[in-house]
Amino acid sequence: MADIFDKIIAGEIPAYKVYEDDDVLAFLDISQVTPGHTLLVPKKHVADIFDYDDQTAREVLLKLPILARAIKASNPAITGINIQSNNGPSAGQTVIHSHWHLIPRYDDDNLNAQLAPTIDHSADFTPARYQEIANQIAKEMEAGK
Ligand code: AMP
Repeated sequence: MADIFDKIIAGEIPAYKVYEDDDVLAFLDISQVTPGHTLLVPKKHVADIFDYDDQTAREVLLKLPILARAIKASNPAITGINIQSNNGPSAGQTVIHSHWHLIPRYDDDNLNAQLAPTIDHSADFTPARYQEIANQIAKEMEAGK
């Protein structure tokens, strides 16, 4: 059965995309734990970390540092980044399609050094603000290719 990320990949529901190629898609997490919070997903349906074949792992994981650099470059206030993947419901995975959270950190974000991506700030973000953030990251991905 198609999960919500399959539907985003298929273009059936909208997302603020920041990067796409044949193998992966990166888009803003709707919750925006911090501004710029991005998800990287394989297009192939991979349930969780236990489900990766080597080729898909290469395609996805090689993109993590490239995407992290683009996110950091998109906003000079970003001084760090948390990368997290929850695998299995017991680990907090709610969408059963493997995804990697890239959560930018700001010196003044008042969050603990460790955090789970469960803080929902979506009420603070207008469509224009999401789009502005996505455009900035997409521009840096384009520049870094
Ligand atoms: P996890 O709890 O690690 O499985 O993370 C799932 C993430 O998907 C959450 O951080 C949600 O905010 C995010 N999410 C769910 N639906 C959407 C959507 N339609 N667009 C963007 N992000 C979503």
